[in-house]
Amino acid sequence: MHILWDIDGTLIHNSTDGAAVYLDAFTRVTGAAPAKLITNPHGKTEGQILTDLLVLNGYAATLLDDVLTELDVRTQALHDNGYVRSAVTGGPQALRAAADHRWANALLTGNGHQHSRVKLLAAGYAAEDFNWETSFFGDRSPDRHHLTALVATVLGDQPSVIVGDTPNDGLAADSANIPFIAVATGTYSIADLRETSALVVVENLENGLDDVLGAIDGLATRG
Ligand SMILES: [Mg+2]
Repeated sequence: MHILWDIDGTLIHNSTDGAAVYLDAFTRVTGAAPAKLITNPHGKTEGQILTDLLVLNGYAATLLDDVLTELDVRTQALHDNGYVRSAVTGGPQALRAAADHRWANALLTGNGHQHSRVKLLAAGYAAEDFNWETSFFGDRSPDRHHLTALVATVLGDQPSVIVGDTPNDGLAADSANIPFIAVATGTYSIADLRETSALVVVENLENGLDDVLGAIDGLATRG
């Protein structure tokens, strides 16, 4: 069983200045700060957010590669300067419990590989907590459906489940026939997330841990 964890709002708390690094990379590439901003980035991939930001401000979408190169420079600088993010309640314990069940902890996230690593380390997780080879990163994906469509090509018949905090995570899981579990530690409420296909919706990974593990165990047993 592969658990495909989302990062923002799922394993770490969203941060009000989380978008600053995108604006910084954009500005360094285009020479000017974006005049127009993305209103709702939640559940979108980095590739989607940065492409939308470029097009919205009159630049060619083909500048995405340059912005991503600059983003790697900026996120490395964050790391070098002691970047701090906060893990959600129960997040580290949930990873440990999953590992105890011999399930693989992997990632399915809108962030790129390096940005993911920098954010997780900044929140106190360890790189070894995750199986990076079977993880999926959205820095070049136009949306989350593109990302979930890749899962079968990498995992084949091995079962997987997505744990995320947004309706977009659920829709992307649905389009690839991957079961979905929702946590309400991001910007969406339990009521919002009950509108999705989620097998279970929990308030957080601490008081909801047994429900999450029970649901995954059911999927793993069924194969
Ligand atoms: Mg999220």
